[in-house]
Amino acid sequence: MSDLGGRVCLVTGGARGIGEAYVRALHEAGARVVVADLLDEEGSALAAELGERATFVHLDVTDEGQWEAAVAASLRAFGAIDVLVNNAGIANAAPIEHFTTAKWDAVIAVNLTGTFFGCRAVVPAMKAQGHGSIINISSVEGMRGSPGLHGYTAAKFGVRGLTQSLAVELGPFGIRANSVHPGFIRTQMTTRIDPAHLEIPLGRPGEPADVAGTVVFLASDASAFTSGAEFVVDGGMIS
Ligand code: NAD
Repeated sequence: MSDLGGRVCLVTGGARGIGEAYVRALHEAGARVVVADLLDEEGSALAAELGERATFVHLDVTDEGQWEAAVAASLRAFGAIDVLVNNAGIANAAPIEHFTTAKWDAVIAVNLTGTFFGCRAVVPAMKAQGHGSIINISSVEGMRGSPGLHGYTAAKFGVRGLTQSLAVELGPFGIRANSVHPGFIRTQMTTRIDPAHLEIPLGRPGEPADVAGTVVFLASDASAFTSGAEFVVDGGMIS
């Protein structure tokens, strides 16, 4: 049921980190993938490595115009958009009295507004097709509070809420929306965090590939009756 048989999946922030793992796993499962990222060199190299079932589009998720162009480019390349993975994200932190407006604006723009732009941009094509799966990447920080992560937490709770409203509104059109909440995963985003002090019941930090199975499931017909659901993938950390 996880055979994605040519399904077209657009992954934002797909050039590195967990996004790259989503791209590789979706491709491995038979999908055609659109790697969408700011990182032209890494994104193009990844698409080239994967071959004809992959393409790269430059995308800054905070730019509405670039979203229109990215959707048009994937429709041109593959004729559909079956799955959108809103994965692009940034993190920043500071005690609240030092949490500048610039920090707030940046983290909300990429994580929350970028996700909203993406959902809005793909829905016309998904409605026309009569099906679609929107997979919004939140975080365990969209489930709880954490010191210093004010904007990130607000954005990731926002992504969770946005996903809920989409699931309700878009279900009648055959479009599903679910959120994924990774725990500590080793990427460039987390290089400055020492996982040794984290209590992870499964006994190790997560790797990007650890989250990819959930995304492949949500892209596939194995999750055909799953919408408005929240998938925590954290080795048991917040249980
Ligand atoms: P990362 O920094 O390794 O990768 C982020 C990717 O997003 C990069 O390819 C980057 O170029 C891209 N990106 C950033 N801003 C962008 C923009 N404006 N437009 C397009 N692309 C942009 O981070 P990661 O750890 O792989 O994180 C991926 C997602 O998973 C993020 O949404 C993050 O919040 C979430 N997440 C990560 C962890 C973790 O522990 N690493 C935990 C929970 C959630």
